[in-house]
Amino acid sequence: MGYYMYTIMEIYCMNKFCKKLFIFITNIIKGYISWIWYYLYKPYRKKRKELFSKRIKICESCQFFWKPARNCTLCGCFVDIKTKGEFKLDENGISRDGCIMKKW
Ligand code: SF4
Repeated sequence: MGYYMYTIMEIYCMNKFCKKLFIFITNIIKGYISWIWYYLYKPYRKKRKELFSKRIKICESCQFFWKPARNCTLCGCFVDIKTKGEFKLDENGISRDGCIMKKW
């Protein structure tokens, strides 16, 4: 009985590990595809640049923006890099895990 329980748990853990590995690999592939798409497709690049500049303007007018290092004092991220990230958006068009204060 103990042996079977061990085997079932082992299969369960491998399944969880495989799922995490699959998500990790697909995220890397998605990142490369969007990076290639960014450089090859001009309208997409233009749209992304407009989004970056809009986010940067919001950060620069935020009270948590620290001008000397150009970083956010809440999360510690450098906003010039963070605003270029690709985040999932909620129903209001606000990034889910971008800005901590949900400003963009
Ligand atoms: S990431 Fe959000 S909280 Fe941080 S500086 Fe930018 S707008 Fe402000």
